[in-house]
Amino acid sequence: MTAPRLEIDLGKIYHNAQALVERLAKRGIAVTAVTKATLGSWQIVDVLLKAGVHGLGDSRIENIESMREARVAASVTLIRSPMLSQASRVVQFADTSFNTEMDVIKKLSFLAEKSGRTHGVVLMVELGDLREGIMPGDLESVVRRVLRLPSIAFKGIASNLACRCGIAPDARNMAKLSWLADCIDATFGRTVEIVSGGNSANLAWALSGANTGRINDLRLGEAILLGREPLHRQAIEGLHTDAITLIAEVIESKSKPSQPWGEIAQTAFGASLPVVDRGIIAQSILAIGHQDTDPQGIGAPAGIKILGASSDHLIVDSGVDILPIGAELKFQVNYSALLRSMTSPFVAKDLKLITHRDLLPEKK
Ligand SMILES: *Cc1c(COP(=O)(O)O)cnc(C)c1O
Repeated sequence: MTAPRLEIDLGKIYHNAQALVERLAKRGIAVTAVTKATLGSWQIVDVLLKAGVHGLGDSRIENIESMREARVAASVTLIRSPMLSQASRVVQFADTSFNTEMDVIKKLSFLAEKSGRTHGVVLMVELGDLREGIMPGDLESVVRRVLRLPSIAFKGIASNLACRCGIAPDARNMAKLSWLADCIDATFGRTVEIVSGGNSANLAWALSGANTGRINDLRLGEAILLGREPLHRQAIEGLHTDAITLIAEVIESKSKPSQPWGEIAQTAFGASLPVVDRGIIAQSILAIGHQDTDPQGIGAPAGIKILGASSDHLIVDSGVDILPIGAELKFQVNYSALLRSMTSPFVAKDLKLITHRDLLPEKK
């Protein structure tokens, strides 16, 4: 089979999604599955919907368009503020979008009205991570203006934490979001339907037994696909952390000195040079590099140590084993490596289809 490739086990993704849907339902929280890391792949979407996710979210209109082309009929939310230049595509293909700018919302309203549609708007609120969001003190006046616009349905509010500054979702900032929902309802009548607390980084908070207040939605990508929570990158109990793995092929294996020789200048990717001289080592090269994945975000199998990477080469120390030419190694991927590998045209995507067994309820 061709390499490099991502092996994607749909049964394991189904299991992860279903487990999270079930655990969060007990807390009154629905799951919006985030599909950007898998480019909106319809096969994965199909499995996520079977597992009971409430809706789909993606940050790229291109992915949403490809889902629609594949006849995905579920509700899809664009979870990044629309570009003005893409507003008409957003109105056409997404049911709802996350927004922070009146200029954009006005344009969505104009285009929705023109095409006889209604477009849903969720307003993002800044809670301290300093990425997107309306400052809480300005929220009421933005809601007032949104409610006046034709062909726009104000759906609710949302926040995003942990992505830029690593601010953790906690009882305090989540209570603030709930409180803001209560305030809007008190001021405008019952209007806030969706209160989306955040992403996979919210799971520790959501499952801790804390009061979840008005939060009734989380947007999950990494937790479903990789079985980990992003705050400490711990495996989530009972979830598969190997639903997606990356396979690469050996193209050179030689005994080489562990130290380079000659005059030293800069490396292609600014990496540092080996510091300790370990004498002669078993060095192998795999045909994968920065153009295929994030070499810093992959985990080698036991006994293999990653030494460095350039655009097209990954250099490893294979320890006591000499790796045969043509051998394949299987790597774990983190979110960054997954994103880049999914996006790379040089990496094949090998889907292991879901079986009847995967769909049976688990023995408790
Ligand atoms: C990517 C993204 C998510 C999903 O994040 P994960 O950490 O993969 O769960 C949720 N919300 C927004 C706004 C995003 O951009």
